[in-house]
Amino acid sequence: MNAPFSPAPDAELLICSAKACREPARWALRWNNPRIHTEERRKNWLACDDHKEGLAEFLRIRGFLREVEPLS
Ligand SMILES: [Zn+2]
Repeated sequence: MNAPFSPAPDAELLICSAKACREPARWALRWNNPRIHTEERRKNWLACDDHKEGLAEFLRIRGFLREVEPLS
């Protein structure tokens, strides 16, 4: 059967990484734990507007936060 619309394969909704949050993510928090990752390595957490600061702070106080980028 032919669907009139087919979502692009990468159109999957990105959801905030905060525990129990189901909001769409607006931000990517890129972090690195120097004890287990090489310096170039980046892990990504996704955050909605409400959780961006809390998640960033969690990473920042541990010295893991590298970049915070808006998701387009
Ligand atoms: Zn959230």
